[in-house]
Amino acid sequence: MNKPKILILGAGYGGMISATKLPKYLGKNEATITLVNKHNYHYQSTWLHEPAAGTLPADRARILIKDVIDTNRVEFIQDTVTLINKDENKVVLEKSGEIDYDYLIISLGFESATFGIKGMKENGLAIENLNSVRQIREHIEYQFSCYHCTEKKEDERLNIVVGGGGFTGVEFLGELANRIPELCKEYDIDRKLVRIINVEGSPSILPMFDKELVAYAISRLESKGVEFKFGYLIKECLGNKVIIEKKSTKETEEIMAGTVVWTGGVRGNHIVEDSGFDVVRGRVNVTNQLRVPGYDNIFVIGDCANTPDPNSDRPYPTTAQITIQQALYLSKNMPKVLNGEDYEPFVFNNMGTVASLGHGDAIGIIFGKTKLKGTSAAAMKKIIDDRYLLKLGGIGLVLKKGKLNLLSK
Ligand code: FAD
Ligand code: NAD
Repeated sequence: MNKPKILILGAGYGGMISATKLPKYLGKNEATITLVNKHNYHYQSTWLHEPAAGTLPADRARILIKDVIDTNRVEFIQDTVTLINKDENKVVLEKSGEIDYDYLIISLGFESATFGIKGMKENGLAIENLNSVRQIREHIEYQFSCYHCTEKKEDERLNIVVGGGGFTGVEFLGELANRIPELCKEYDIDRKLVRIINVEGSPSILPMFDKELVAYAISRLESKGVEFKFGYLIKECLGNKVIIEKKSTKETEEIMAGTVVWTGGVRGNHIVEDSGFDVVRGRVNVTNQLRVPGYDNIFVIGDCANTPDPNSDRPYPTTAQITIQQALYLSKNMPKVLNGEDYEPFVFNNMGTVASLGHGDAIGIIFGKTKLKGTSAAAMKKIIDDRYLLKLGGIGLVLKKGKLNLLSK
């Protein structure tokens, strides 16, 4: 009898945990497992703000897929998914053509969402993947390197606008504020000439944290030179400036900037929408067993899924923490899926949230109530990062890529 074919799309948190854990729950003769990803490496999206600012080499945030999967059990195909043909159980790949499946796990992750802001896609830079963050780092360095080489010194070249003060925006601001003094030293630029301006539509940053932690984060970032424009929406992004609108009065202003980094939100991978799935902001409303309604053999996890939260009328937020739990849940239940048995709904166990404010500083809430700030929160963030590496590739991977150990570069 032919073994059922399980196909995993995308090697982010969801895809990698699925590819490493499924072989532990399924015998060799129970199923074949294939993983498709556009690169031969997995990158840690949760670290992307660091290489974007240049405070961590991009290579530290990536792991060769073949170094962590069991290639005797999982076939890895390096290719780009261009379409999912859900009615014929086939996936179209850019180079290898069609590949068929019996069970599909879609974990193609997130993309930057620009909500139709004029010029943002063309002129803004997004924290989206390893290539996009390398471009941000290089772009900022380029602007610094040009400063003394133009006839008329253009101070605006040194202005950096960060659009959006959610988690990604704040974590990037923290890294950037730490990196700027280094860049100033390297390029002989007076630190006072460099502006880092965060434009946030809401009255403050990070609304999910309580006032005390938010006030701490704002004061720490301001002390490192970040300027906040709260209650302003970016309306347009041009090559050398952004147009912002004060929400209360609708008055507009211009901010000249050599660099605009957009951190105003994310959506699910466009491939899912292009393939005809019903989506909201690129995300499929999955069932509480993470299946696509009407397609019992297709599962969506991570940032391409809107996962129902039984305690709220809104889906769970899209985070790596929930994605990892979804992949573990699905891997454990896959034997039941293959046998046509029922299984318990997915429930997210929220361990807490930590937002970095740059090296050695952070804010967080863990286990539902314990507030952390400063070095204790920063240490917790490192523990979370290393815990994932441990889960994925054991102690060897922690020693090679982890944040807490001394052996890593
Ligand atoms: P992703 O991590 O986006 O991975 C998707 C994978 O699919 C990638 O390998 C990509 O190359 C591949 N892929 C994409 N398109 C194709 C294609 N067409 N063909 C083949 N392969 C493809 N969450 C937390 O819980 N804690 C945090 O501290 C945290 N920090 C974050 C910091 C930053 C700067 C950002 C941007 C996000 C952070 N998040 C955090 C959110 C978290 O990164 C996402 O929720 C998580 O990455 C989702 O995992 P995923 O597996 O769905 O997708
Ligand atoms: P987000 O949607 O959480 O935040 C985007 C921010 O941009 C919001 O505060 C919004 O008000 C603002 N914004 C949107 N349009 C704007 C405009 N035109 N002008 C000005 N401001 C505008 O997006 P994110 O920060 O990229 O986070 C995406 C997901 O990843 C979330 O689920 C988040 O929880 C997760 N994440 C988690 C962590 C962490 O746990 N440490 C870190 C990064 C991201």
